[in-house]
Amino acid sequence: MDFKTVILMLAVGSFSFGLLILLFKFSLGKPQLAPYWVEAKMLKAAGSLLLYLHADSFDILSMVANTALLLGCAYEAWAVRVLNGLTVRRRLHLWAASAIVALSAAFFYLKEPYRAGAYFLGHSILYFLPGIFLLRYSDAKFSLRIMLGISYSVTSAVYLASAVLYFASSEFALSAGQGAILALVSGTGFCNFLFSGFILLMIAMERSDMELHMFRRIVEIANEGVMMFDENYKILYANRHMAKMLGYTTDELVGISYESLFPPDMLEVYHEQKALRRLGKDSVYESCLYTKDGVRRWFLVSGTAICDESGEFEGSFGVFTDINERKETELQLVESNRILTELTYQDGLTGIANRRCFDATLEREYQRLAGSSAMLSVIIIDIDHFKEYNDFYGHPKGDECLREVGRAIASSIRRGVDLAARYGGEEFACILPDTDLESAVKTAERIRQRIAELEIEHRASKVSDHVTASLGVATVRCSPRRSPAEIVAAADKQLYKAKLSRNTVEFTLLADER
Ligand code: GH3
Ligand code: MG
Ligand code: MG
Repeated sequence: MDFKTVILMLAVGSFSFGLLILLFKFSLGKPQLAPYWVEAKMLKAAGSLLLYLHADSFDILSMVANTALLLGCAYEAWAVRVLNGLTVRRRLHLWAASAIVALSAAFFYLKEPYRAGAYFLGHSILYFLPGIFLLRYSDAKFSLRIMLGISYSVTSAVYLASAVLYFASSEFALSAGQGAILALVSGTGFCNFLFSGFILLMIAMERSDMELHMFRRIVEIANEGVMMFDENYKILYANRHMAKMLGYTTDELVGISYESLFPPDMLEVYHEQKALRRLGKDSVYESCLYTKDGVRRWFLVSGTAICDESGEFEGSFGVFTDINERKETELQLVESNRILTELTYQDGLTGIANRRCFDATLEREYQRLAGSSAMLSVIIIDIDHFKEYNDFYGHPKGDECLREVGRAIASSIRRGVDLAARYGGEEFACILPDTDLESAVKTAERIRQRIAELEIEHRASKVSDHVTASLGVATVRCSPRRSPAEIVAAADKQLYKAKLSRNTVEFTLLADER
């Protein structure tokens, strides 16, 4: 076979191979398969084709052809380097390409046979590079790589020998030997093309399989739970740690719906997350999941949507961190805080709100109503002759009486916004937001009657034979110019008035402030 036929075969072969790699890259979705490789093959194809068309004379097109071939060799060296597990420094390939173009342009001005010798030398160096990468950095057991390394080295040596011949014995190179040398180098190049193409493809496949295997291993042995779901949230995959945390085997988890792991009160979280994922959005959330034994377990979940190239939702996966212990402590803390808050706002003896709660509620309600100029009423209740009750029946009986009166007052107020509190000692107080004087007096009268209807015997009382109370009511139109303390003072004043006759209700409507 003559030199031109080989060159043409090299052009067609390189082009077909380049297309094959492109197919792998885009159709099979394995971009890691061929970095720099397509560039290498396409440059070689273009170079060989140009050389085929202009082999008989050396002109600018032949120089371009030789430059493309050299560039192709360089890119093949980078591809081999990456496939061999090494990295190519950023922009190195661009610098190298620029240097090759510059040198190749300089060769153009050399005389024959030195010009051809220089191109051969260039090829020799660039074929030697992948040889070094393969032989120097390959593990001895990767015999495929060693064989390929030898192939590149032999090709490099043939090119080197040809270059030496061109430089040392130019007459021979220009006359009799030229045909033989060209046939030898192109033949060696072609053999290397066939050999390297096949082996590099195998190495690339092996590399991507190895990566896949490695990622699978990482997920399998990870210390976090991992689950993968299809578009209907059926579990496609669960790693060992996930299965262990939920008390299943990995096989048992596959096929069941993610939703079935959620306790009913957590289903809202499930639906919320599902909706997010369908929009292609990722998120981190906390949720309880049922273990196989039906025990609730808290997880911090990092959910990621999986979408195809057109953005269509295909499924999702989640990384699950066990936060059960932390969450339980957190929930206990919330509960203790709730109890603590309740205790700080609760009267220990009667169980109704205490003075602190009364003050805070009054302040809050007053501020709330001040904006709308609504009415607010306060009732202060004081048990009549309670000192005598204590003296007559004893302190424990007095306590019991306070409890009963507290209950009666609390049951006399009807709306959720109203508050009944123990104000201190044997005094109670009510806050009635949004309540005018008439309604407040009615409520006060109801309280007075309820206390009387308890019919707690009080033989030491000077007003009745059972426990009674006196009540002071004050109503005010809330305004920023008044303070809540004023209304309490006004109600207290009315209570003082009621104490003059006892077992009665006295009231006042505070005039509007201008
Ligand atoms: P008035 O009719 O004028 O209201 O007379 P009073 O005796 O009810 O009023 P005074 O303020 O003189 O006495 C209040 C009494 O309430 C004195 C105190 O012994 C009693 N007291 C205050 N707190 C408690 C308590 O927690 N338990 C009991 N058992 N008695 C209490
Ligand atoms: Mg009192
Ligand atoms: Mg009293």
